[in-house]
Amino acid sequence: MMSNSLASIKTRLRQLRPYSLRPERARVKLNQNENPWDMPVKIKQETLRRIAECAWSRYPNFTPRRLHERLAEFSGWTADGIIAGNGSNELIQALLMVTVEEGKHVLISEPTFALYRQITTVLGGEVISLPLNADLSYDVTALKDAVRDLQPEVTIVCSPNNPTGCVLSDDDLRLLLESTNGVVVVDEAYHEFAEHSVVPLLRQHENLVVLRTFSKAMAMAGLRTGYLLAAPELTSEIGKAVLPYNLNIVSQTAAEVGVEMYEDELRPLVREIIAERARLYEALTGINGLTPVRSRANFMVVRSAIDPKEVFAELIHRNILIRDVSGYPMLSRYFRFSVGTHEENDLLIEALREIFGA
Ligand code: PMP
Repeated sequence: MMSNSLASIKTRLRQLRPYSLRPERARVKLNQNENPWDMPVKIKQETLRRIAECAWSRYPNFTPRRLHERLAEFSGWTADGIIAGNGSNELIQALLMVTVEEGKHVLISEPTFALYRQITTVLGGEVISLPLNADLSYDVTALKDAVRDLQPEVTIVCSPNNPTGCVLSDDDLRLLLESTNGVVVVDEAYHEFAEHSVVPLLRQHENLVVLRTFSKAMAMAGLRTGYLLAAPELTSEIGKAVLPYNLNIVSQTAAEVGVEMYEDELRPLVREIIAERARLYEALTGINGLTPVRSRANFMVVRSAIDPKEVFAELIHRNILIRDVSGYPMLSRYFRFSVGTHEENDLLIEALREIFGA
């Protein structure tokens, strides 16, 4: 019985390991690159006030125009070139749905965010994967050669890259954009922590697609909101793969309030995370057996002389949860943590000193 119904499932899909997360919990949670502070209470309260005035019995507006306009002002792009989604994950999926089928190629550098490979494979496309350099920076020469010579339908660059924190420069991105008619996607989920965005490049490059999220700097991972920016001709095609009413009124409203109050309420937290990232880098550099990798995001990978799985277990034992990335290509000797609050980072540093006998 079972084997008969499974025969209906695509063979390549059955070979795929599901995207998943270990179930451990801990008081200090540094495993998902989230904002360590909850969303500021002012944003919560204003969101609740506004949604109390909405009719919950009604569908949201067919196009969340007001949100698109807020996002346009916030990002410096045009509202008709923006799609809001139920997390940026949904928009990665939508973009790949309208571009990928059998025989189409998606170029990525690995290790990177696992979903690009996952969705491309589910859709029957071919992943072309380039390794990062040994120091975990982008291999820009290899990327340029591959884009020019292979002309992939889609190239995805995660910048800053999850999980390594490396970035691609605007000059290198321009070269990629100019050497292909294929779509080049920059996933800038962590751009606030790099204090840099590629959105200005949208004006000159109609094959650029930018992805952003509210799950990191914007402190709204629980509400699932992201957005995609591209030339309006492209977004109207990508929009065909997005479900109607994908974004509920709570998430829409919270996102509107979030961008309105970003400067006063959220930006100071981003600045603090950037400062803490530098402090953590220095502290871990001083521990024998650890080699942190410089990151432009709100997380960092660290090369470890002790088996990373053992470090993970030792930290869980001390109520600290990090990310085990040792199964990623090139990272068998590394672990990843997100930058927490000052107190959380102190606990992490102290625990690592203990584990490494410093
Ligand atoms: N892109 C990258 C690079 C990410 O790391 C993540 C989340 N880990 C996402 C996209 C997905 O974010 P969202 O919560 O907006 O779906």
